[in-house]
Amino acid sequence: MLRHKNIIVICLILLVLFCILKAAWWVFLLLFIGFAALVSWGSFDIRQNYFLKAYSSNPDRKERKIALTFDDGPHQMTEKVLDLLQQYNAKATFFCIGTQIEKYPNIMQRIVGEGHVVGNHTYSHSKSFGFFPSAKVKEEIRKNDDLLFEFTHKKIKFFRPPFGVTNPNVAKAIAATKHTVIGWNVRSLDTLIQNEDAILKRIKNKAKPGSIVLLHDTSLKTVRVLEQLLLFLQSEKYDMVAIDKLLNLPAYED
Ligand SMILES: [Zn+2]
Repeated sequence: MLRHKNIIVICLILLVLFCILKAAWWVFLLLFIGFAALVSWGSFDIRQNYFLKAYSSNPDRKERKIALTFDDGPHQMTEKVLDLLQQYNAKATFFCIGTQIEKYPNIMQRIVGEGHVVGNHTYSHSKSFGFFPSAKVKEEIRKNDDLLFEFTHKKIKFFRPPFGVTNPNVAKAIAATKHTVIGWNVRSLDTLIQNEDAILKRIKNKAKPGSIVLLHDTSLKTVRVLEQLLLFLQSEKYDMVAIDKLLNLPAYED
């Protein structure tokens, strides 16, 4: 559990120390608030590697490689994304949701057929994912792996938790399913920001060689941003690669 374990040990030591020193009640309250704040920060910021190891970029990457990732598809907009990727000779990684795969199997087939990498983004992408016990998290991952297998004929290695949420239950599930957890270091906020130029500017400012960019193949807005982004990355001589090529890690197991 990485940093979480260290934080618990430090807080327990402080707790014992405060008891010995007969500290005032508000000192204990501050300790509790501090602990709660650190845990929630760790839960919602996947880059902190707080509960589990997640790959959010390749910091060693000297070459001008960048990985575009698309979450929450397949979706009717995915076809436009695929057309653009083809046009710019770019490869990407799609973190797919099981219920969407059931809705758009032909688009799922096209993603795989065109040589993009696919990862697991759970079966139902439930809003309550952060509250699921580890058995339920495992079930969500395995059910989606089985669905994806029908298209890849290989076991999926890459997993991205919905909303980037991690906690002890997710960590326990991943220890059992042995997936490689993929985060991001460039969050486009394409589902929150309305202005396309603002989204593009945000990505351009943050993108560096070795970056993992988080996008969603679920809106025309993102398709428009992608068109401009690909043009920019091409002019900056970037090679747009899938996660396996960026991190030198296998996307699948036979
Ligand atoms: Zn998602």
